[in-house]
Order: sequence, then C-alpha cells, then structure tokens
Amino acid sequence: MELAHRLKKIKPSATLAVTALANSLKAQGVDVIGFGSGEPDFDTPQPIKDAAIKALADGKTKYTPSGGIPELKKAIVQKFKRDNNLEYKLSEVTVNCGGKHSFYNLMQVLLNSGDEVIIPAPYWVSYPDIVLLADGTPVVIHTDELTNFKITPEMLKKHINKKTKAVVINSPSNPTGSMYTLDELKALGELLKNYDICIITDDIYESIVYNGNKFYNILNAIPELKSKTMVLNGVSKTYSMTGWRIGYMAGDETIIKQVEMVQSQSVSNPTSIAQWAAVEAIMGDQSFINEMLQAFTRRKEMIVKGLNDINGVECHNPDGAFYVFPNVKKIYQCNGFKHIIDNYKGDSLSSKLSSYLLEEARVAVVPGVAFGSDNNVRLSFATSDKSIIEGLKRIQEAIEKLV
Ligand SMILES: *Cc1c(COP(=O)(O)O)cnc(C)c1O
Repeated sequence: MELAHRLKKIKPSATLAVTALANSLKAQGVDVIGFGSGEPDFDTPQPIKDAAIKALADGKTKYTPSGGIPELKKAIVQKFKRDNNLEYKLSEVTVNCGGKHSFYNLMQVLLNSGDEVIIPAPYWVSYPDIVLLADGTPVVIHTDELTNFKITPEMLKKHINKKTKAVVINSPSNPTGSMYTLDELKALGELLKNYDICIITDDIYESIVYNGNKFYNILNAIPELKSKTMVLNGVSKTYSMTGWRIGYMAGDETIIKQVEMVQSQSVSNPTSIAQWAAVEAIMGDQSFINEMLQAFTRRKEMIVKGLNDINGVECHNPDGAFYVFPNVKKIYQCNGFKHIIDNYKGDSLSSKLSSYLLEEARVAVVPGVAFGSDNNVRLSFATSDKSIIEGLKRIQEAIEKLV
C-alpha cells in the first residue's frame, strides 16, 4: 500500500534514536555511557506524584475540557504573572500533551502550504519536521560560536519575505544552551515590530539558567509584541516530568481557540491525572528546581572543562539548559579521521564521529547534523557525575587514537 507522501519529508527524532540505541546496547550487557538523553535524570518530586495519586483516588479519571482543566489554566495564568511578569486571561492559555505537542498544534493552526517558518540553527531536532508535517517550509538561519549561536537582527532580516509566517526563538537553547540577553531580544523585537509575523518563544528551559544570568523572553523586552507572540512552555524540564506529557502555551485568543479545536479532533485532552500533577508542580513548593540546578551547575563545569582538555575539541560554556555542543571540526581534519570516514556508519562527519565514539569508546553522543550543525556533537549532562567522569575519560582516549 502506498503511504502518505508527507512521511517522506520527515525523519525520526535523532535524540530519541540515540537514546534507544544506547539503551539496547545496555540491555545486551554492553556498558555504554549515555550522553544522548534529552531529559533531567531526577525523579519527579514526591508532592507532584502524590497529587496524581490523589487525583486517581478521587476519580479524576474522565475526559477533561479539551484545552485543560480550569484549575490548571488558572495555575498557568498565575505562573506567567509570578515568573514572567506577563498577564494572560484564562481564554489566552491552553494545555497540550507536552511542549512538542504545543508546537505541533500551533503549526497545524498557523500554516498553509508553502508558508515559511524561520528556525535559527543549531535548532531543536523537532522544529523543522513539525513544520514540514504541517506543509510549511522551514527556513534555517545558520549560526555558530562566533555569535554564541545566536541570531542578530541583520541575519533575521535577510530571511524575512512575504511567505514568512513565523519565527522561532528558543532561549536557553537546545542544543547549544545559549540564552538571549534582554538587549539582544530588544534588538530582534524592534525589527519584528515591523512585520506581521508570529513570534514563537519556546521557554521550556527558562528555569535552568547558570552563571547568575536572568531569563527573559521577547515580551519582557518589548511588551507591545504581545498580540503576535505565542509563549510555549511545559513542565517536562523544570519539574523532571517528561513522561507526564504536559505542555502549554499562551497568546492570541483566536489562535488558542483554534489550537483547542485541533486538539479536540486529535487527542481530545491531555491526560486528566497528569494535569492535576501539573497543577501541583506549578503551584507547589518550587525548591526542587534549585536542587536540580545545583547538580547541573556542578556537572556543567565538569563537562566543559573535561571537553576543553581534549585535543581538537572546543566547548563553549552554556548559559542554560543541560547540554553542551562542543565543536569537533579539528578532529575531522586530523589524519586518523580518514579511517573513521571509511569504516564507520553515518551520512555526515558528525554521524561518523558519533558511531566511532559509540563503538570504540562506548559513549553515546548525538551528531550535530541532527540539529543543523555538522561541526558539533551534543552531549547532555543530565546524567550522574560518575558517568560524566568516566565518559570524558573514554572520549579522550578514543580521540587521542586519532591524532
Ligand atoms: C524538551 C523540549 C521541549 C518540550 O518537550 P515536551 O517533553 O514535549 O514537553 C520543547 N522544546 C525544546 C527545545 C525541548 O528541548
């Protein structure tokens, strides 16, 4: 049977694929150190679990309103006021099955065939494919270490045309950890004021920020942009709740209503008990975040230093999130790498290097090509200190064989 043509445009999530491969090797008894995972390695805090257990016991096990229970919408409205100094009405927020689903729904609502969505690279693996699934065209702006992986207004302007429907800002970023300052957001916002383009700010890593920096989104920089900005967020990263599948967004009431219509004809509603857990996550004790942040800060220092100590690897210091995205271009240029090109699987240099590291060093990293940058690889430091130390040692040994 012939399947839908749109499938040919997309590929499975590279991060999920690397994690699955590392897990299957582990199941076969191979001792693999996984730097692939895109989720915190902490357990969901007990009060959040207890709220879900209570919801179950109380029989909160039926369909809910498509866009989420009013209690969760109220919590989200309060959260935006408390954490972001943004005011929304209940009708301007909606709950989805994870932040990924918020972006998916939004693309279904915004895009006509051929509409362009500007995505700065290195980007989160899912943005381009979700745009393609909605018949849109991803327009990638390449950035590198020279601008700290951030776009400037000049770069953005060059990519805007009549077909531009939306622009995505993900700060702090997956995979680079780079975060825009208030001034940088102001400069981008001043440009965007002149266009009828939807600004999508994916704030999922807002609470994982280092080096004493403060998180801002583009609405903090330019409040007048509110009517054209959609703010996406969720509980997955902040509360270590990736499996619960609760994301949310805020913005224009008409768009929110259409998102809820799409949702009503697809998943009906996010899981009822997960929504009650999310109410507790957002409204309950927030001290878990600081504990997580302390561990991440320590591991970040360790991994940045460890990677920079390896010949041929250059690693910047991320502002936020729990990834590093070291540059490995110098490794591609060394003599020993010819052997990797000839003998290891992959359709790009970063894939071949990743295959080599998996087979030779038993270390799983994600090829940068999946994020739109073949000169880099991504390592998540949401893993134990012990694994980081052992993993760095293995990477160093494997790379030293090449030079
Ligand atoms: C993890 C992540 C999300 C959302 O994840 P969900 O588990 O679907 O809530 C959104 N954007 C980025 C950049 C992410 O890394």
